[in-house]
Amino acid sequence: MKLHVQTLFVAIGLGIKRNWHIFLAIIAGVIFGNYIFNIAGGKSDVLYTENVRLYHFLNILNIIGQAFIRVIQMVVIPLVCSAIVVGISSIGDSKQIGKFGKKMLLYYGIITVMAVIIGAFLVLLIKPGIGVQSFISATASGDLQTVVNNAFQEQQGNIGNMFLSMIPQNPLESLAKGEMIPIIFFALIFSLALAKVGEINRPIVSFFESIFAATMKVTDWIMIFAAPGIFSLTAVAVSSFGLGIFSTISKFFAVVLVGFCIQFFVIYPLILKFFSKVPVSNFYTAIIEALLVAFGTASSSATLPLTIACCEKRGISHKVCSFVLPLGATLNMDGTALFQTVAVIFLTQAYNVSLDPMQIAMIMVLAIIASSTCAGIPGAGLITIALVLNGLGLKTDQLIEGFAFLFAIDRVIDMIRTTVNVASDAVVTAVIADNENEINYDLFNNTEDYKEII
Ligand code: ASP
Repeated sequence: MKLHVQTLFVAIGLGIKRNWHIFLAIIAGVIFGNYIFNIAGGKSDVLYTENVRLYHFLNILNIIGQAFIRVIQMVVIPLVCSAIVVGISSIGDSKQIGKFGKKMLLYYGIITVMAVIIGAFLVLLIKPGIGVQSFISATASGDLQTVVNNAFQEQQGNIGNMFLSMIPQNPLESLAKGEMIPIIFFALIFSLALAKVGEINRPIVSFFESIFAATMKVTDWIMIFAAPGIFSLTAVAVSSFGLGIFSTISKFFAVVLVGFCIQFFVIYPLILKFFSKVPVSNFYTAIIEALLVAFGTASSSATLPLTIACCEKRGISHKVCSFVLPLGATLNMDGTALFQTVAVIFLTQAYNVSLDPMQIAMIMVLAIIASSTCAGIPGAGLITIALVLNGLGLKTDQLIEGFAFLFAIDRVIDMIRTTVNVASDAVVTAVIADNENEINYDLFNNTEDYKEII
């Protein structure tokens, strides 16, 4: 009898670790979403007429998924601000801050440059855009015309203006609007000043220490709902495109996927090996929960609390995590840069626009800039692609069908590129922590005794 009860618990997922819950939630979400797609072909009016109960159920799942993302996003701004203030003021000495900062830029730089080189190399070699013109025209749609037009208009400003917009005129306004880059800009300068003023900073630093601890606690609570949240998000996403999409877009998808795999399975391990003594397999075990949540939510910002929890609870010091991870979640988007490089060159191939080497180099540079200005939220990477296209002088109406194609498949690619983005933030954090003797290897290498994060 006892055994039966136990088996039943395991069957419904209660006897297994929570990261397995999330993994199973993703699989179940894919299967269920695909089932709905097969009934309705991704159209909600068809689903309504075919099976009204399922239609309402899908709407409920949508609300659950959105609620899950919103509650995590709710803690992101207090978390980022408090992490930066506590991180920088605990480093204290400005020489050490400079050292961390330089290393961070160096490693984030290497990783992103590698990503765009890999992306450009693969897309130029395999040429997925050749021969897709007929499919591209078939997917054109009026609604997307407006979406794309708006996206392009938002990106009209030049690069100078873009840099100016990183500096907040009023930090409280940026906080209210949730503009991450201006917030980080202010938080960095404010924390550097706090570190300089000495003991008088104690009340403010203690205040932010309390905020940090409380937001991490809230994250623990939210993660209790990770499995239903991620199941809902995945099911709703897959119900709109179905699994058949992979055969239609196979060549483009294959190029992007191979690029992501090279980053994930070759470049990151090489960086860990060459620049640190962090064991690769333990590293991936340490951050697995963050990777699964990144995949499910398609948002590096929403995953940030988890990334911090995984790194800190498994031995990387708070000093390094609280400085390097919030900046990485906002500025380091190597998966996005790779995707943008592939997507833009793919579009030029699809529209028979030939590129000279200088233009290809420009696309790569613009993709690095566009990805680092992109917010860590679902779909942002596709919007900021407009900046790269503008740099090429391409016009909206020339590309509408191609964009429609990219929109149709973006969610699934977004889930993967976000996982890559989050992994690279953690790689850089681990390497810097190793270089600065800020990893407790007894804890990090003892994977058997890892405490559950969620
Ligand atoms: N969703 C990605 C992230 O949060 C950004 C993107 O759309 O590429 O990292």
